Amino acid sequence: MSVDLAPYAVTASNSRGRRYPEDPPAYRTEFQRDRDRIIHSAAFRRLVYKTQVFVNHEGDLYRTRLTHSLEVAQIARTVARAIRLNEDLVEAISLAHDLGHTPFGHAGQDALNACMRNFGGFEHNLQSLRVVDRLENSHADFPGLNLTFETREGILKHCSAANARQLGDLGERFLSREQPGLEAQLANIADEIAYNNHDVDDGLRSGLIDLAELAELPIIAEQLEVVQSQHPGIGERREIHEVVRGLIGEFVTDLIDTSCARIELAAPEDLAAIRLQPRPLIGFSKPRAEAMTTLKQYLREHLYRHPRVSRMTEQAKGIVSKLFDVYTTNYERLPDEYANRARKGHDTHGSGGGARVVADYIAGMTDRFALQAHEAL
Ligand code: MG
Repeated sequence: MSVDLAPYAVTASNSRGRRYPEDPPAYRTEFQRDRDRIIHSAAFRRLVYKTQVFVNHEGDLYRTRLTHSLEVAQIARTVARAIRLNEDLVEAISLAHDLGHTPFGHAGQDALNACMRNFGGFEHNLQSLRVVDRLENSHADFPGLNLTFETREGILKHCSAANARQLGDLGERFLSREQPGLEAQLANIADEIAYNNHDVDDGLRSGLIDLAELAELPIIAEQLEVVQSQHPGIGERREIHEVVRGLIGEFVTDLIDTSCARIELAAPEDLAAIRLQPRPLIGFSKPRAEAMTTLKQYLREHLYRHPRVSRMTEQAKGIVSKLFDVYTTNYERLPDEYANRARKGHDTHGSGGGARVVADYIAGMTDRFALQAHEAL
């Protein structure tokens, strides 16, 4: 596939490689190998039982972290192919980007972050990296999945200066304010396109938001008008699907057009030139970026803060904090492997060392596992 790639796309030849050097794969690209390791990981299988917005047991039709990650990958691959970026790499980044997510979505992450505030905090983005670098534990020759630098770079979307200083080469760009490769930039925006649109779909399906009210946003009104004039009386479910389908198309097309125009203007010769750009080259036009922001705000106010979602959020926070308190004061209640690691962490780094292992254990839980563990206490 590399013959068709743009000169500034990431390839095996300009890659910074793996932390533990390996022979190149026989029939795959380096980035297909990354993707395959991610799909075969335990953390990836757990995504199916982790909340996106709705807790996993609320209904079988809502997105989970797994289907979310697949939607991100599919959007990112379309754009990558259209603008000749490395499709295998964006797929690997997309599938791995949420591996560090706690049970119960953002509520779980906020609760765990609060529990860890005296020990460096908890951040799901950084945790995704920790999963692929250290916590996955199935290869004979190295810890973690030993992914390429560029897949790891894409997973680490943002990072505080303090954390960046501890991350070595991967943290450098946050300190020197360089850009990541275009594939990383793309996976990040594909994530945004995916969740905003599928949250509209899930929000409408749940009845927590309403299409007529949502149509106060011009971008939704535009799509709804097209659907209603072309397909009058198709029924609400198909109408919603057509609106969301149209929206995704709208954002993806704008992303491709705008990014191409910016790349043409900047005329980067190679990957190094991409990194030195003053700002990302992958992005929306101003009107579409604004529409995305407005949509995000609407969802925050009307869906994520809806009383039914907030009730779940409060419960989830209670469960996570309770589990954290119990495990940090009684390591023996953890499974043997974690208990041993927690004691070792405690001996070497004090209570923060033990707390980090407890956070790893809780973050790895699925929604239903966390509920069961909480009940068992
Ligand atoms: Mg995501």
